[in-house]
Amino acid sequence: MTTDANPTPLSMRTMRCGDVRATNIGQQVVLCGWVGKRREHGEHLAFLDLRDYSGIVQCVVEGTVDVRSEYVVQIAGTVAARPEGTVNDHLLTGEVELHDCVVTVLNAAEPPPFGVDDRADVDEPARLKHRYVDLRRPRMQKNLRLRAKVNAAIRRAMDVQDFCEIETPLLWAPTPEGSREFAVPSRLHQGQFYALPQSPQLAKQLLMVGGFDRYYQIARCLRDEDLRADRQFEFTQLDLECSFATEQEIRSFVTTAVLDAAEVGTGVRPEEVATMTWADAIDLYGTDKPDLRFEMRLIDLSEVFANTEVKAFSASTVKALKVDGGATMSRSQLDNLVDRAKSLGAKGLAWFKVTATEGTLGLDSPLDRFLTSEERAGFLAATEASEGDLVVVVADEYRLTCSILGTLRVDLGGKPVSEGPYKYVWVIDFPLFDGVDNEGRPEAAHHAFTMPHPEDLDRIESDPLSVRAQSYDLVLNGWELGSGSIRIHRADIQARVFAAMGIDGEEAEARFGFLLGAFRFGAPPHGGFAFGIDRLVAIFAGENNIREVIAFPKTQSGSDLLTGAPSAIPATQMAELGIRAVPKAT
Ligand code: ASP
Repeated sequence: MTTDANPTPLSMRTMRCGDVRATNIGQQVVLCGWVGKRREHGEHLAFLDLRDYSGIVQCVVEGTVDVRSEYVVQIAGTVAARPEGTVNDHLLTGEVELHDCVVTVLNAAEPPPFGVDDRADVDEPARLKHRYVDLRRPRMQKNLRLRAKVNAAIRRAMDVQDFCEIETPLLWAPTPEGSREFAVPSRLHQGQFYALPQSPQLAKQLLMVGGFDRYYQIARCLRDEDLRADRQFEFTQLDLECSFATEQEIRSFVTTAVLDAAEVGTGVRPEEVATMTWADAIDLYGTDKPDLRFEMRLIDLSEVFANTEVKAFSASTVKALKVDGGATMSRSQLDNLVDRAKSLGAKGLAWFKVTATEGTLGLDSPLDRFLTSEERAGFLAATEASEGDLVVVVADEYRLTCSILGTLRVDLGGKPVSEGPYKYVWVIDFPLFDGVDNEGRPEAAHHAFTMPHPEDLDRIESDPLSVRAQSYDLVLNGWELGSGSIRIHRADIQARVFAAMGIDGEEAEARFGFLLGAFRFGAPPHGGFAFGIDRLVAIFAGENNIREVIAFPKTQSGSDLLTGAPSAIPATQMAELGIRAVPKAT
């Protein structure tokens, strides 16, 4: 670091504001940044906080200077110790200040719409409208710089694992992820459209045919879906694909990248990632995105109530959730819980407070008097409940029961996603199809190119919903980070899967002809994965909304408050594109 007060011709400053320390005392420095707080001491002495991304330093300015909040200035001065009693322990530069300051205004500024200090509570629309001011705030600086570090760690991890970074087109054909796509009108081919890629899925599979056997990209993906805390129209994924690799190898490539990123993002390398089958995740946690930071597994009571006379429990599945110490819940809290269960599709929710009389456990519930003594004993044994616990029970069809209790589990025991500890889990062996569409045709759970589990190949036609896929998700603290699969590289299996989905040869050719065509020219076995970098960084940054780790995000309604997008385009441009807007249907 140069100590010369005159910066070299290549630089406007000799160091950054946040780096000035007691070791620099006596040195001449030149700093650049924005004016933060200003405090006057009489007419001819002012204390200015000078801020750049690295921090702030106090500058003592004599004489009159016409600078106000957020002016951009260059200050040359001498580093001096602060007078006794004025040291600020909260600042890394708190032992020093700049004396003999010469202030050069590089640019004046209007008063900012809100304080650049993180402590000022600013409402979100104002932050997004003036994002460039918001980005100056320490929180956004920290988050975006963390993101850059995570990206760099991911790139390093992929490079070390011999992956080749390749960019794929943004103007592309529809891809099969199943979300609504953004369409881009073509000027040269009026009436025709490009699709913005939901992911580089088909492009990366073509790269496998092209012999790039380990590809990756930090890829922008675009999906025209409703926005929420963990979803924006545009998001960024680490997208990868490899040939001649087993599912375990692919997961281990991803695990390395994620653990490296976590180490950089949180300072701690997580223990290895757990693995759980999809069937277990649903059975024990009621979801394919289990949050393993807390136990509260679903408890199966189907056996206990197999021959029950209790109407509420005569269903194919009876499952329970035990809330430790939950018996203190009031009647109105329990009513709310029942309403919540109903809003999730339950016919009802039975609750039982566990009591003890002279050491013998009992149940306090409107339903208790209908239970036989064996049922009560079986219930207490299976739930391993103790005095003061609350047990809630849902009886219904299997998947619905699991999903209702899975949601209640998170309602009752969950915590914000970004709160540690970080619990990663691979969920494997997803079903190939996830239910059926309106016409009774199986729908792909991941996408139509996912390879069925080798043991289940002969059931594609006879019992498609029971076929497992070679697909896998990575979950962190109850958020799905990403998913991937081994792909179908054989035309015969692809044709059978398409047929099961009701996609005939003609439709397959029209939608994915270019991929199927390429597959006839030597497609290697391959598979891949993609995980959301926005979500990962948000969690590392302690943020519960991915907007906080995106420089220019959209609002919940998809607007960009800064630029005003989306907006109408001039009539001439519409004409050039061959487009006419129809009035909005009312
Ligand atoms: N393209 C998939 C997705 O974006 C991930 C993959 O299968 O590689 O979800």
